[in-house]
Amino acid sequence: MLPALDALIALQDLDTRAEAARRRLSDAPVKVAALDATLAGATLALETAKAALAESQTARRELEKEAAVAQQRVSKYKEQLMQAKDNKQFHALQHEIATFSAEVQRVEELEIGRMLEVDERTAVMKAAEATLATEKKRVTAEKSAIEADAATVAAELATLQAARGDLAKTIDARLLTTYETVAKQRKGTGISRVVDGLCEACRVRLRPHLYNQLRAGDQIIQCESCVRILYWIAPPKAEDAPAEPPPAS
Ligand SMILES: [Zn+2]
Repeated sequence: MLPALDALIALQDLDTRAEAARRRLSDAPVKVAALDATLAGATLALETAKAALAESQTARRELEKEAAVAQQRVSKYKEQLMQAKDNKQFHALQHEIATFSAEVQRVEELEIGRMLEVDERTAVMKAAEATLATEKKRVTAEKSAIEADAATVAAELATLQAARGDLAKTIDARLLTTYETVAKQRKGTGISRVVDGLCEACRVRLRPHLYNQLRAGDQIIQCESCVRILYWIAPPKAEDAPAEPPPAS
């Protein structure tokens, strides 16, 4: 194989790793935003739970007042009952007492309902508080892990870029341009291995003539389908097997 191809294979490896590093770096803010959104969700859930609890508590206090007012009226009519001047007044007061006693009972039942609701909503609020506390811890830990990872990846990327700069200097300028042009068009891959007569990148079979030229290893060959620069590695000779079956024609 041409030595220039070895350098290009190494360059492709550096470029692929650098691209993965860049992607990882650009993913970091997305992950942080997702964590922030989770935290905002847990905060909102707690605020909602607190508001619901406050509403139940206010309603319960209102009922308490209503019950007290009704109870006062019952007491007042009971006092008046003692001083009733005639039967008619007596019955009228009895009627009022019955009406307001029923009202006290009705309001007290509502109050019990609200008290149960306060208990339930207190539990929901406490659970939301616990969730928020857990999420805060998790988000803080994950954010620092993301930051640490980003710092490592940024350092790796700088090393890869420096290595690429050094390696690129050793490659023929025209070949480098060809590689870079193809890589730009082909999702970052400018060079492809040929195995069993197929371009590994685009899976298209090489014409026999081109395959033979590639195996001869004395010139740069590009895939006729995807235009990537091609290379071919001779199979190991240990088994003394025939080099490679002739390409299908
Ligand atoms: Zn191809």
